[in-house]
Amino acid sequence: MTATAAEDHAEIREEVRKLCARFPGEYWRELDRERGYPTEFVRALTEAGYLAALIPEEYGGAGLPLSAAAAILEEIQHSGGNAAACHAQMYIMGTILRHGSEEQKRRYLPKIASGELRLQAFGVTEPTSGTDTTALRTTARREGDKYIVNGQKIWTSRAEHSDLMLLLARTTPREQVKRKTEGLSTFIVDMRAALGKGLTIRPIRTMMNHNTTEVFFDNVEIPAENLVGEEGKGFRYILDGMNAERLLIAAECIGDAKWFIEKAVAYAKERVLFGRPIGQNQGVQFPIARAYAQMRAAEAIVHKGLRKFEAGENCGEEANMGKMLAAEASWAAGEACIQTHGGFGFAEEYDIERKFRETRLYQVAPISTNLILSYLGEHVLGLPRSY
Ligand SMILES: Cc1cc2nc3c(=O)[nH]c(=O)nc-3n(C[C@H](O)[C@H](O)[C@H](O)COP(=O)(O)OP(=O)(O)OC[C@H]3O[C@@H](n4cnc5c(N)ncnc54)[C@H](O)[C@@H]3O)c2cc1C
Repeated sequence: MTATAAEDHAEIREEVRKLCARFPGEYWRELDRERGYPTEFVRALTEAGYLAALIPEEYGGAGLPLSAAAAILEEIQHSGGNAAACHAQMYIMGTILRHGSEEQKRRYLPKIASGELRLQAFGVTEPTSGTDTTALRTTARREGDKYIVNGQKIWTSRAEHSDLMLLLARTTPREQVKRKTEGLSTFIVDMRAALGKGLTIRPIRTMMNHNTTEVFFDNVEIPAENLVGEEGKGFRYILDGMNAERLLIAAECIGDAKWFIEKAVAYAKERVLFGRPIGQNQGVQFPIARAYAQMRAAEAIVHKGLRKFEAGENCGEEANMGKMLAAEASWAAGEACIQTHGGFGFAEEYDIERKFRETRLYQVAPISTNLILSYLGEHVLGLPRSY
């Protein structure tokens, strides 16, 4: 099952599939059981240069287009793996690339590209503000040549397996800015330097293996030079990266959907009951066929979004629709796959229940379905703003 777009990146897909074949179901199952981090897998991806796909060549990366990064992530999911362990390394650095100073780019990007520095952690969500990002409460107060950070983040995934975090914090109180989107700033936090000096990371166990955490800041000092771009403009910088993030997550969901569909088709052909393969029954065929149609539709939108992104056009509509439709398609495919497998769908050794748990996340994070519908309602259809 291959993509239909011209930007197919067939060679990259082939190489990623080969790499992933070294990390079969047992590898992921074992990590899932222990809530472990796929260190060897991430190392292999880094060494092959895949996590540096989007870093320009002048900073040591591969300088590939977004569609290539999407193909890499799709194939990881398609092969039964879980790119959530490292996908953020691909896109968080975009904020430094677009808005960082030349000095910051030279200091960080080559080391991120080589794997010497891991930038896997993205500190935006907070327990009280949730989706209402501009209501976040973490503050960064300037004192001479440093900022003092206080507050708490939640769902900061991979923080324990990252050297750096991209942090969004309020630098000007909400009451003192004209618009709530102003007064927020982005920082590069060196977590290695801050751990034990006011920074605490606490893991959160979730229904799937995601290595996510809570992060507490108690008077953590950050050098002022770690501010990215201009003070007060951080929210805009984060928004700038969201279309890319949504398209990449959508590509992962498409990979998941393909994995579920292929598993379901194979099993429906081989499982014989009442003297014929169960896949001969349309009650078994139709949910798989429907999920396939949903996946193909989502894929077409995502490819359109990638093309627009690469042409420098506004792809907000496609990025949002693609993320929502792909997450729904992977869920429908997971549902059809479990149902086709009957009781075996629940057995760990089939990997289906694990992938089922993993793919459910994408209807909630990094953006929930309601918020996508709200974007479409307001920005595409021109309906009245609801919040
Ligand atoms: C495993 C995991 C990993 C994550 N990783 C990261 C990470 O690395 N970094 C990071 O910053 N964040 C991360 N997140 C956070 C994620 O982005 C949020 O969970 C998500 O954006 C939803 O926010 P919330 O959980 O606070 O839900 P809330 O904002 O509390 O929303 C709860 C529900 O209400 C709905 N809702 C809220 N407002 C409206 C409205 N106005 N209209 C209609 N419906 C509404 C939402 O759609 C949602 O269904 C992660 C989350 C999870 C679960």
